[in-house]
Amino acid sequence: MPKVVIDEARCKACAFCASVCPKKLIELGGPINQLGYQPAFFSPDREGECTSCALCAEMCPDVLIEVFREEKAS
Ligand code: SF4
Ligand code: SF4
Repeated sequence: MPKVVIDEARCKACAFCASVCPKKLIELGGPINQLGYQPAFFSPDREGECTSCALCAEMCPDVLIEVFREEKAS
């Protein structure tokens, strides 16, 4: 499971999420979705750089982003 999951089918490519990520892990330009936009996508090969800060999810006006954190073993 990736740390960041974006509902690309409903993304309007506003770029708020990409602009706020301190690590620049979100890009625009995915395959054109049903709304006619090239949506945001998370770079899976750079997943290790994601701090799960959730700024991207907080910025999305349509609440399309979920951020997961790994739980520490107790
Ligand atoms: S959770 Fe934070 S570091 Fe990870 S993609 Fe979103 S804004 Fe970037
Ligand atoms: S903030 Fe939401 S709607 Fe805007 S580009 Fe990111 S995922 Fe798409």
